[in-house]
Amino acid sequence: MSRKEFPVLSVQQTSELREALLQWGLANGLVMYPPNFDDFSANNAPITLFPTPLPKSSFKTAQDVQQLFNELYINLVIHQKEWLVDTLESLSNFDADFTGKLFEVYKKAVAESPNNKLVQPISVGLFRSDYMVHESTNEIKQIEFNTVSVSFGGLSTKVGELHNYLNQAGYYDKSYSYKYYDDEEIPVSNSINELADGLADANFYYNDETKNTKTVVLAVVQPGERNCFDQRHIEYSLLKNHGIKTYRVTLEDVESRTTVNNNKLYIRSTMDEVSVVYYRSGYSPSDYEVNPEKTWAARLFLEKSQAVKCPSVLTQLAGAKKIQQILTKEDKIKKFLPDISDSDLKNILSTFVAIYPLDNSEEGKLAKKLAFEQPEKFVLKPQREGGGNNIYKENIPGFLNSISEEEWGAYILMEIINPPKHSNKIIRNHEIYNEDIISELGVFGTIVYNEDSGKVLTNKTSGWLLRSKFSSSNEGGVAAGFGCVDNVYLY
Ligand code: ADP
Ligand code: MG
Ligand code: MG
Repeated sequence: MSRKEFPVLSVQQTSELREALLQWGLANGLVMYPPNFDDFSANNAPITLFPTPLPKSSFKTAQDVQQLFNELYINLVIHQKEWLVDTLESLSNFDADFTGKLFEVYKKAVAESPNNKLVQPISVGLFRSDYMVHESTNEIKQIEFNTVSVSFGGLSTKVGELHNYLNQAGYYDKSYSYKYYDDEEIPVSNSINELADGLADANFYYNDETKNTKTVVLAVVQPGERNCFDQRHIEYSLLKNHGIKTYRVTLEDVESRTTVNNNKLYIRSTMDEVSVVYYRSGYSPSDYEVNPEKTWAARLFLEKSQAVKCPSVLTQLAGAKKIQQILTKEDKIKKFLPDISDSDLKNILSTFVAIYPLDNSEEGKLAKKLAFEQPEKFVLKPQREGGGNNIYKENIPGFLNSISEEEWGAYILMEIINPPKHSNKIIRNHEIYNEDIISELGVFGTIVYNEDSGKVLTNKTSGWLLRSKFSSSNEGGVAAGFGCVDNVYLY
């Protein structure tokens, strides 16, 4: 079927749509705190007016490969630990301040545990694999694989519900009476419930495969989190669907609010036993900046406890951009996913663009040449998470020249993906913007595994997220402009 254009609405209809959309958002928790908030007033989260077109086949491939990716990354931790630890060791030399510190936490936790073995062999991953659609082929190409603190699974469900409401109520239709989209064209991501299910799965295995609702989840969050409602939706689902309570603490609060007895982690005030530590913090250097001693100590303290970590330090580190670069090779995929079928292999390889190291290997030497001769084809990435850290295109040579060549090894050089532009509209701070947008699809996955037995206990695809941003910018559409939450219109 051919693709529908975006709805065309009169000024009057757009104004009615705007009011309906903003009120639905406030009524249903599609909200965020504004910057520097000092009270409890929330604002509408930035979103798109309409769902954004995405080819059905691209969407399907992204869903189809998710469990493979979940398994690929945890296999590094379970079956390739020596290789992973060696790789991280050398990466730590380049990035001592952050990767090095996290790696130190891992080593210390092991060294300080009985028989040099972490007391909890079970880990849980709430992952998100991010893609853009390659315009000329409609193939999805992976931007990155996130193994820690993946966000917007909460608001994604809400945006999908909102677009469905607007469609059903006739706001997208000129005569107000018809659904502009068929229901199945604008599916709703069930990521709120499915991410909560992932945490409930971990709680289940912590409790020897019983549905204990006495144990609780400890969410480790950033102080002053503006996106806390995204997290709250998961907490509410966990309580409603599984009877499991969540406590929220910052890394700084861990020492005063929790305690350990016989390796078990407890909330001090209630002596509730913690089954799962769920990190929505701890992925960026700034999370440890204000009080480094206390916050790094908290990370180590939690890692040594018997609670299941989401994720363990090693699983977090497996998501390093350097590891992603290494994994783009067919021989590595075959080695780390030994049972993969030919069609799955073909699928997973089709999601990769070239990623180069900037080291002294043959490939690295080629990449160093490319970075200076054809920088417009690349993005340069450090070992960081959370956005705003990359160097784009023509800025790459100048940046590389500004640091010593020994430091280049801490970066990866990745081919630029050029997704199609769409003339959707973004609404932010109640104002509608008419600029072309580009979108990034994220697919969530949850996986629970036992390092001792080498067993994968659950492995699931857990909904999706579409994020969009203005395509206009100095760097030709790639630089981090402000983003917004969107949803798919499958065609
Ligand atoms: P982070 O872990 O900080 O989110 P990403 O690898 O996701 O790092 O990069 C941040 C943003 O940069 C992405 O959301 C995307 O908009 C853009 N980006 C990253 N890699 C590419 C690429 N290869 N092609 C086009 N845009 C990219
Ligand atoms: Mg990331
Ligand atoms: Mg990202």
